[in-house]
Amino acid sequence: MKPLITVIGSSNVDLIVKLPRFPKPGETVLGGQFYKAQGGKGANQAVAAARAGANVCFISRVGNDDFGKSTLLSYSKDGITIDHVSVDNTIPTGVAVIYVDAHGENTIGLAEGANATLTPEQVRRAASVISLSKLLLLQLEIPFETVKESILLARKANVPVILNPAPAQPIDSEILKNVSILTPNEIEAEFLTGISLTTDDAIKHAAQQLRSRGVHTVIITLGSRGVYVSTERENLFVPSFQVEAADTTAAGDVFNGTLAVAIAEGKKLIDAIRFANAAAALSVTKLGAQTSAPRREEIDEFLFSQ
Ligand code: ADP
Repeated sequence: MKPLITVIGSSNVDLIVKLPRFPKPGETVLGGQFYKAQGGKGANQAVAAARAGANVCFISRVGNDDFGKSTLLSYSKDGITIDHVSVDNTIPTGVAVIYVDAHGENTIGLAEGANATLTPEQVRRAASVISLSKLLLLQLEIPFETVKESILLARKANVPVILNPAPAQPIDSEILKNVSILTPNEIEAEFLTGISLTTDDAIKHAAQQLRSRGVHTVIITLGSRGVYVSTERENLFVPSFQVEAADTTAAGDVFNGTLAVAIAEGKKLIDAIRFANAAAALSVTKLGAQTSAPRREEIDEFLFSQ
């Protein structure tokens, strides 16, 4: 039986233009190539979890527009339950406008749109599905009061919470102590602790500091290096898998979505991290965000081959 996971977070449509170079203010640069892709950290993680083998209930909000319709359709194609993806009749679907230059650098302008109107009330309406879930997975691209309410609801129902604190913003200890697993990347860990992660000792120190604020388990993701995990009993680096990286966009999202699946299935923490490292490594070998999230068979085969 697939475990039920609730993911609460953002839905965006990414409008990507590859250009020879970035336009200066007031300038038009010709010769671009256009791509449209589904995005948003919440959606990326929900898709990664669904493909890795969970029944995913996604709580999110889109606009009553073409982007909203194509977004809902894409979730259904991945088998994600969309009963709690609501539609805002006045505000458009979240959109990210992304320029990528010839060196692969990008600049991003984000219009949060309907994501900004995902309210605590909408989450309360989903309380029964949250309480039936094996796990709740969240990020910080929706209003913080909604994140807060979600975490408190989950804790009341004894449902473990994974919080991916991205994009970085301050989180009070009252919230942190209700988080089972916190998964910052290096930048977010530095932001939350004020510690610059330039050495192994600094990484350990940052994880320790976050745990002292009440988080049960801290997993700092370290890009191609893998992760550092810290619990009361275990403190260790878990290396990533070596692959030919083509595009690291959304590696963290795939890591979080698949970690949630492995934990919900009852895997031991280190095995769950290995599973998520494998899925994230596979994702960086392919272009795109949701397009690069691997399916369960691929992850299992990859792990078997290592
Ligand atoms: P984010 O995308 O949030 O910045 P990271 O860059 O830390 O997150 O990547 C998340 C995870 O993805 C890493 O912990 C690792 O498992 C995997 N990963 C990222 N980059 C690579 C890479 N070049 N090779 C293999 N695995 C990678």
